[in-house]
Amino acid sequence: MVYSWRVFALNPDTTAETQLVLPNTIAVDGPAGSGKSTVSFAVAQRIGYLFFDTGAFYRAIALLALEQHVDMNNPDEVVALAQRVNLDMTPDLKNDGRQCTILADGRDITPHIHDPEVDAHVSVVAAIPGVRRTLLDVQRAIAQRGQIIMAGRDIGTIVLPDADLKLFIDASLEQRARRRYQQRLDKGEPADLASIREGLQARDTLDSGRAVAPLLRAPDAIYVDTSDLTLEQSVEAVYRLIMEWRPPR
Ligand code: C5P
Repeated sequence: MVYSWRVFALNPDTTAETQLVLPNTIAVDGPAGSGKSTVSFAVAQRIGYLFFDTGAFYRAIALLALEQHVDMNNPDEVVALAQRVNLDMTPDLKNDGRQCTILADGRDITPHIHDPEVDAHVSVVAAIPGVRRTLLDVQRAIAQRGQIIMAGRDIGTIVLPDADLKLFIDASLEQRARRRYQQRLDKGEPADLASIREGLQARDTLDSGRAVAPLLRAPDAIYVDTSDLTLEQSVEAVYRLIMEWRPPR
């Protein structure tokens, strides 16, 4: 494995003692609504890292399948779709709450990947082994850019098993449902707490139970429970873990 840690200068007349070495690749996994994306994005902004939410790619395939009337119960059709589309992400931000920009054959599809219809279908698409295989190489290629926080379900276990730092961010189902509920209300969208809770639970079951790359905590991942933490406290906790990280001797 090749290590290339970033040396962080704390002040302009940096000496060896005032330099911090940060993990080059940071893998963050956790269930839907655990706050892993919001927290990872905020921390990435703070340390000047790229943030890549890999769920966006599975969402992109589900969205395109819906748009193109691909039968999601036919794995071959969905895999063919995943193979013919060229997905990419850029760190571009717009004033619509996005954490990065997702391009499908150059088209910006970011505003649509969190539609409720995509929520309802994404875990079925993500359970298809050929879809995962196709997206694996693209995700690893993006990780090569370095100085990256990559969030998902299988980042520490499958996508980046050699990540410098691995975190597993979790929260109780009730808290996760409340956060999603509040997010929808904040966006002025209709929201029902009970159906959000059910939707999250259904996704947890599919994501944890699938045969290929299930949602799993890597044995070397640090467990972070954000159930009783505010967003600011969660960001602070993750930021501290990154700052406390030291290269293995
Ligand atoms: O993280 P987010 O909720 O946006 O992810 C959407 C869905 O994409 C998840 O429910 C899961 O089915 C799938 N996913 C995955 N592996 C990842 C990231 C997301 O299977 N690394």
